[in-house]
Amino acid sequence: MKTIGVLAIQGAVDEHVRMIESVGAIPKKVKHASDLTELDGLILPGGESTTMRKIMKHYDLMEPVRAFAKDGKAIFGTCAGLVLLSKEIESGEESLGLLDATAVRNGFGRQKESFEAQLPVEVFGATPFEAVFIRAPYLISANENVTVLASIDEKIVAAKQDNILVTAFHPELTNDDRWMRYFLEKMV
Ligand code: GLN
Repeated sequence: MKTIGVLAIQGAVDEHVRMIESVGAIPKKVKHASDLTELDGLILPGGESTTMRKIMKHYDLMEPVRAFAKDGKAIFGTCAGLVLLSKEIESGEESLGLLDATAVRNGFGRQKESFEAQLPVEVFGATPFEAVFIRAPYLISANENVTVLASIDEKIVAAKQDNILVTAFHPELTNDDRWMRYFLEKMV
């Protein structure tokens, strides 16, 4: 069985833990760099990317997470996790720099702070994914080595590059486990 870590600093941690269990993998909450050693993959959950970055720096987690990815291990970032993984954040904050793309924080604007969308996702076939967006970011531009998996108008809301997967929305807040299965089966 594969062991999947969830960065357990803040945000939607328990929901990810439940979804990892439901697809038959072993979840592990990650608080310290030493927790990374036994993992096959890692999830950076939604929350507040500014707070998450601050705490990651405080616990010296930035470099170990970069090294985890450089080792070829898979990372799945949802919402704030997408922001932290992107090479650039439009507002200039520091990131982990693991996805060759630029993220715009809170990119859907105030009038759309939270919304749900029936999102067509080609890799999942005909049934759209009911995506929950909460003060969501998007990717404004991505390098050609990034595969776009879903967008709303010109805004990229799901993408992958090698061992890095990101969604701007929160799959763990639904009962639809297709993103978790995709991560586990195709990337971990
Ligand atoms: N707006 C948050 C940020 O930029 C992300 C929101 C979320 O993760 N639901 O960090």
